[in-house]
Amino acid sequence: MTAPETSDESARSDAPPGDLAGAPENASARPEPEAAAGEPASDAILTASELYKFFGSGASRFPVVREASLEVGRGRFVTVMGPSGSGKSTLLHMVSGLEPPSGGTVHLDGHDLWALSEKRRTLLRRDTVGFVFQFFNLVPNLTVAENIRLPLLIGAAVAEGGEGDFDELVSTFELGDKLKNYPHQLSGGEMQRSSIARALIARPAVIMADEPTGNISSKAGEEVMRLFRRCCDERGQTIMLVTHNPRDASFADEVHFLKDGELHPEQQLGQGQVTAQSVNASLAVLGI
Ligand code: ADP
Ligand code: MG
Repeated sequence: MTAPETSDESARSDAPPGDLAGAPENASARPEPEAAAGEPASDAILTASELYKFFGSGASRFPVVREASLEVGRGRFVTVMGPSGSGKSTLLHMVSGLEPPSGGTVHLDGHDLWALSEKRRTLLRRDTVGFVFQFFNLVPNLTVAENIRLPLLIGAAVAEGGEGDFDELVSTFELGDKLKNYPHQLSGGEMQRSSIARALIARPAVIMADEPTGNISSKAGEEVMRLFRRCCDERGQTIMLVTHNPRDASFADEVHFLKDGELHPEQQLGQGQVTAQSVNASLAVLGI
């Protein structure tokens, strides 16, 4: 398998595909799913096919993700495990629409994510994905309460006038006495809990989380994983988690392993196979 040549992001066309080209570009016009032949299986809400990401240019150009293919079934809790620097964040950014791949395709909820116009991709992401950033990405000049409510203000939920799960999330994450604080007045753990609450509040179909327990206590981390498990089991939400923490991975239905930018399907753990021991055994085989 040779690497694709299209590594230059600026060379990527942002033009929408034919059937979307003439559609109005307003906030209420969310793209309809495609129905073309050869589309991924309908029970997969996310399909990544042969994704590549290169950084650098010329002689210093190097791949950080290589030929990564992954399918996430609707309502599944899927984890990608790998050590620091293995390409987890890069992979998650490509499948969520935050960072364009150098090659390969991503289908999210029936859409060819990187063939959409930027505007439509933003709308799709806004309406489908709740993202927990590794480094929080809280808005500095908004309070904790305003940060958590942000998806309700800018997303589809505003039409319903919903408060989402604000009270429940504030209570779960013990943020009640921090609601008027600004991000710079929070500890790392409080920032992380706020960013998780923000990702969950509008009940997105897909929750994507980048090392969400990296800055919180072990006990709080376990609570977050239990909450994700409940989102999946009780609400049918899909979870895609990237982590280097075996404990977190053991909450998932499936675990994929990433090493040096490559997934290792031979070590992948499927439904019914995920335990702390099996996760550690796969890590040991891969030497990570
Ligand atoms: P992980 O999340 O598993 O720690 P990352 O996806 O953040 O890994 O990074 C994978 C590799 O890509 C690392 O070697 C990192 O230094 C490199 N990398 C990430 N982002 C960039 C960038 N914007 N420019 C150049 N190199 C990058
Ligand atoms: Mg990372």
